[in-house]
Amino acid sequence: KAKDLGRNTFQFYSSEMNMATLERLMMESNLRHALTASEFELHYQPLVSLANGEIVGVEALIRWRHPDLGVIMPDRFISVAEDTGMINPIGDWVLFEACRQAQAWIDEGLALQTMAVNVAPVQFRQAGFVEMVAGALGTTGLAAERLELELTERTVMHDAEFTLGTLSALNRMGVSLSLDDFGTGYSSLAYLKRFPVGKLKIDRSFIMDLERDADDRAIASTIVSMGRNLRLTVLAEGVETAEQLTLLRSMGCGMVQGYYFSRPVDALRMTELLRSQPFLHEN
Ligand code: C2E
Ligand code: MG
Ligand code: MG
Ligand code: MG
Repeated sequence: KAKDLGRNTFQFYSSEMNMATLERLMMESNLRHALTASEFELHYQPLVSLANGEIVGVEALIRWRHPDLGVIMPDRFISVAEDTGMINPIGDWVLFEACRQAQAWIDEGLALQTMAVNVAPVQFRQAGFVEMVAGALGTTGLAAERLELELTERTVMHDAEFTLGTLSALNRMGVSLSLDDFGTGYSSLAYLKRFPVGKLKIDRSFIMDLERDADDRAIASTIVSMGRNLRLTVLAEGVETAEQLTLLRSMGCGMVQGYYFSRPVDALRMTELLRSQPFLHEN
């Protein structure tokens, strides 16, 4: 729809701006409007301990509930938000809302160890990011130890010295850090030692064909062993089948996340899951 409108308007504005500029401006104002109109919401997916099946944490995942277009998934708007700079106010909102919800669950007596929040590269690099995180924790009352920021290898490897400073400041506050989509970017393994990272999330692309692909099994198992040797928690993303779960367990993987246990769900359904702990088993 936005595209059609852009194409018609193009006739009138072609002398001043090109199509890409116009689309970008429209998208930026759409995102800005979405934020003020409270069209964003967070869904949550359980992070499950393989030791006993307990939901020990959740990952917050943004959705855009558009009044005409329905639910828009993050892959369709996060990169535009990054290009237009709208990722900063949107990311700030995500962080506050995730911390608020986590503390609300804790106030209800639900045992939630970790609220994991995705942080975009631009957002991580914005001036005052550490202060913003401190502000979200202070305002909501969430203990820093419960917050985990998910960064990709791309985010942390670019300008490693700057990254080290920011990660250290967050780590001193008590916030934990995890490397998202691990294995898809390029990481210098030396930095795994230098950076105060506590968790590696094996990317879903290595888990998808785990039952059939011996190379994927070798990669997953290598990441698990390396993580254990470096005393890092290793979590496998995108676990969908019992066979994948069995393989990951035999490799010694500590945590999993995926449709096998639960898709991302809204706050209400997540409350039910935290209350009932349906995957818990004796060990
Ligand atoms: P991610 O951080 O790697 O999040 C995991 C994605 O994998 C989520 O997609 C989740 O729904 C999906 N997933 C989990 N388990 C399975 C499974 O078993 N099978 C399949 N096929 N998919 C599974 P989602 O929610 O669409 O988010 C996509 C990406 O968008 C995220 O990848 C993250 O990079 C980004 N994103 C989401 N929320 C935020 C946010 O609040 N801020 C920022 N900066 N990025 C976000
Ligand atoms: Mg993530
Ligand atoms: Mg991921
Ligand atoms: Mg991913």
